[in-house]
Amino acid sequence: MFNPQTEIKYLTGVGPQRAELLEKEIGVHTFGDMLTYYPYRYVDRSKVYRIAEIDGNMPYVQLVGQIVSMEPIGEGRSRRLVGRFSDGTGFIDLVWFQGLKFVGKAYKVRTRYLIFGKPTVFNGKLQINHPDIETVEENVDIPEIQGNTFRPHYHTTDRMKKGFLASAAVAKLIGNLFKLITEPLPETLSQWIVDEYHLMPYDEAMHNIHFPTSADSLRRAQARLKFDELFYIQLGILRYAMNRKQKQGGLVFQTVGANFNTFYHDHLPFSLTEAQKRVIREIRQDMRAGFQMNRLLQGDVGSGKTLVALLCSLIAIDNGYQVVIMAPTEILAEQHLETIRGLLSGMPQLRIELLTGSVKGKRRKEILDSLIEGKVHILIGTHAVIEDNVQFRNLGLAIIDEQHRFGVAQRAKLWDKRTGMKTPPHVLVMTATPIPRTLAMTLYGDLDVSVIDQLPPGRKPIHTIHQFLKHMDRIHEAMRTELKKGRQIYVVFPLIEDTEKMDLENLEEGYQQMREAFPEYKVSRVHGKLKSAEKDAEMSRFASGETQILVATTVIEVGVNVPNASVMIIMNAERFGLSQLHQLRGRVGRGAEQSYCVLVTKYELSETTRKRIQIMVDSTDGFEIAEADLKLRGPGDLEGTQQSGMAFDLKIANIARDGQILTYARTAAQHLLDTDPTESLPENLTCWKHLSQLHSDINWGAIS
Ligand code: ADP
Ligand code: MG
Repeated sequence: MFNPQTEIKYLTGVGPQRAELLEKEIGVHTFGDMLTYYPYRYVDRSKVYRIAEIDGNMPYVQLVGQIVSMEPIGEGRSRRLVGRFSDGTGFIDLVWFQGLKFVGKAYKVRTRYLIFGKPTVFNGKLQINHPDIETVEENVDIPEIQGNTFRPHYHTTDRMKKGFLASAAVAKLIGNLFKLITEPLPETLSQWIVDEYHLMPYDEAMHNIHFPTSADSLRRAQARLKFDELFYIQLGILRYAMNRKQKQGGLVFQTVGANFNTFYHDHLPFSLTEAQKRVIREIRQDMRAGFQMNRLLQGDVGSGKTLVALLCSLIAIDNGYQVVIMAPTEILAEQHLETIRGLLSGMPQLRIELLTGSVKGKRRKEILDSLIEGKVHILIGTHAVIEDNVQFRNLGLAIIDEQHRFGVAQRAKLWDKRTGMKTPPHVLVMTATPIPRTLAMTLYGDLDVSVIDQLPPGRKPIHTIHQFLKHMDRIHEAMRTELKKGRQIYVVFPLIEDTEKMDLENLEEGYQQMREAFPEYKVSRVHGKLKSAEKDAEMSRFASGETQILVATTVIEVGVNVPNASVMIIMNAERFGLSQLHQLRGRVGRGAEQSYCVLVTKYELSETTRKRIQIMVDSTDGFEIAEADLKLRGPGDLEGTQQSGMAFDLKIANIARDGQILTYARTAAQHLLDTDPTESLPENLTCWKHLSQLHSDINWGAIS
């Protein structure tokens, strides 16, 4: 009898040693886990080719024949093992660069093998690198092999392979599992959902995902299981959000009063863009609706989020509440303070204070006292504002800038902490890292999203150029032209923990190079290893125009605003993520001049890297760039998502590609919640039961 809870060691063919491997290496503890360990690809094995038919442009092929000779070739890093393989119609080389010892022992000459791999041509000869190899009994003829269609391939680790648990062995275990399944596997969704979305029944999908009977049933099985996965994530998030809204009231900001109006009519230095107006309306709606606002404000670098934050703050203040604005770094917090104090300089009745780690002693105490007395209207700061001893009289609005740098737990702390009131403050999260819609829906399923999709008028798009390192002289020449016009220039180097020492040396070398190449100009240098006072001093030398070139690590990524700096040179651009490049580039293009961004890379680039650099050259649209990044790298790698609460692994769905299914799944989940809010209709029992079993370990609050 099949029971998904049964420990994996009881499966035929497993036993204690393999059980340990399965548990440790791929997290398979039970029969149920094994069943949902899906193949990562399928190979059509309906055809066996002859070597005479093959050329280097073909995709994966399989061949049957013998290895006629096997010998190591080359020295050092190019050392490899080459097996000459023939089926009587021609020869092809099987090549191994790794595991030579193992391969040398495992495969014998004059033995019949089934070879599987991608043919290529090297030095005019056909070869297959690291082929899959299986023994074929002498008495099996080729038509019998050909009957074997759609082989599943499972991810396995090196340790598993050494324990004789390669993909084919895993497939066999799953075959054993299916032998135990004598009854159809029970449906996991309400029947009306299966019907309405034309889904393949669960039992059929499970069989076909492992052992597809045709290309079409494979496709339908995948769609069904992706739907399941995304449906339950959405159901969890939406149910959590609904409960929260029902349980928790929100502050009602009824009035738009004197502060807002005075600022808007008398002090606003320019007119708002239509996009800014729209998002302010959206936020204003939320803040008077009677439930707690949880809104994500997305807007590309330079789209004017600060002004939106300020106008919303004034509404909170008009209703008698305090505001906190949290930034990820001290420099950014200070810059916010400066900007906001500047904008509000005509309204001295409003008190704005800064609280960071550097604010100490008497000054700190004074601010904390004024805060709890309600004399501070806007508190701007870093993580320091969520320390336990910071208490407000009545916090009404919390604004978190560049949220992706804050952990989820920190965000939660904001409304846990003593804010002077029972009702939690409204929360506005601002980010310049555009999160594609599909990802936002999954990660921040219960956050409402506003988008500033328009830049203030008069900005010239930044001109982006790709240049190879060996043409540094051309770059110097172009730099000189801009310096002569009076512009300033950033030169950015990567700094990654793993390669820190080398990275710092590179930066140091780059700094010396700049000083030699431009003796007539002054060069600043800033990196994360400098003391913060030193860093600030160098930074302000550049900001004030005293130095013309700033050699730096990504410490400048968020923060500094130097409108006269119109050129950004990014060294080793291939080592940066796309979103990071986009953020960096956003440091220029802030003044009236034409700005440039030069991406400097080494000459040999992988295909993916070349594509990434090209996207940067072609596009200045942050959303387009983020979508492309997601497609190229997958959601796990997307900057900022690691910390922002990807509390679940997706086994089969892919956020970058399955947006359509996600939309259906979300609609279905919302419909279920709307039509069965008490979770009691008999036809939905399956769904509710499944939800509580599936995700008992996920903290939905942490995700949203
Ligand atoms: P970000 O969205 O990156 O935080 P900022 O709020 O720093 O952008 O705004 C970038 C620049 O654009 C600032 O100098 C700001 O004063 C200016 N700005 C903002 N809104 C407008 C507007 N409606 N018209 C003209 N300039 C604006
Ligand atoms: Mg900003």
